[in-house]
Amino acid sequence: MATSKQIAGIDIIELPTEWPVGPVNVFLIRGEKLTLVDCGRKLEKAWNTFNSVLRECGLSIMDIEQIVLTHHHGDHTGFLDWILEKNPVPVFAHTNCRPYLSRDDFHFKRGVEFFANFYKEFGISEESAKELAGSRGWNQGQRNKIEITLELDEGIPIPGLSEWQVIETKGHAQSHISLYRSSDQVLLCGDHLIKHTPAGIFLESPIFPETERSKPLIQYINNLKKCLDIPVRAALSGHGDIIDNLPALINETLQKIDKRADRVKSKLLNGRKTGYELVREIYPDRFEKAIIVLASDMIGLLDLLLERGEIFSENESGVLYYHA
Ligand SMILES: [Zn+2]
Repeated sequence: MATSKQIAGIDIIELPTEWPVGPVNVFLIRGEKLTLVDCGRKLEKAWNTFNSVLRECGLSIMDIEQIVLTHHHGDHTGFLDWILEKNPVPVFAHTNCRPYLSRDDFHFKRGVEFFANFYKEFGISEESAKELAGSRGWNQGQRNKIEITLELDEGIPIPGLSEWQVIETKGHAQSHISLYRSSDQVLLCGDHLIKHTPAGIFLESPIFPETERSKPLIQYINNLKKCLDIPVRAALSGHGDIIDNLPALINETLQKIDKRADRVKSKLLNGRKTGYELVREIYPDRFEKAIIVLASDMIGLLDLLLERGEIFSENESGVLYYHA
């Protein structure tokens, strides 16, 4: 059953997904403008639950005055266009949501090329690399042909939500933002942190052509540390329960990342390996089915070890080999 808890002007609405992460939370903030944060999966059952919870609150789709998106993933932007069809309100989101929301075919074409090259460098055969890149499993977005009304980023005030600040929290997605209300130290952290599971770190193709790819795990760690400096009494996550001890969860997450990086490094002490060889060795039962997610995760750990000077890489005929 859906739950709707009210926390000082915020309704938390839990909606079903068909994904392993479980239900997704969307939020109604009763600011100067009634603001919906995130839009669940594009599923009939999620849409029906959303509408019935609104009814229980004495509201309807027509009462929503604006929408803020924490990031572009399909469990947070799913039924955005169903709302806008009924009630075309302004949509505020990070600029990196744009190609995913506006169905930018040029971005996806370039993305296929980017990932074909990335998988090849990762040590996957050229043929399989092309196939994986073409499968678009790397595209986590819901493509709706929607234009963002206002691009949000750290420091940009949100119209109709004067109590809230935008905090850029890239890592889980290149479009990820969190919202912070200092008066009662509430952080709406999207998928930056999830209490019951580590937030996935996903490699994305560059939004602007010819720019270097992002290093999502390094960004993620920096943004975890940034959130350690902010006093937070309650963090409302995109999935699962409210996080009431955010610093503890952040420190635990940082320690787990270090442990996993150490494990990867230990595999590189006795000779060089490609990213793909590392994935096969560490996840012998999972690598075939989950290669897109595992490659994304592994490149994050390799980026981190390279940045820390703990490993080195060499490019041989377009394939990257790593050694400690
Ligand atoms: Zn999510």
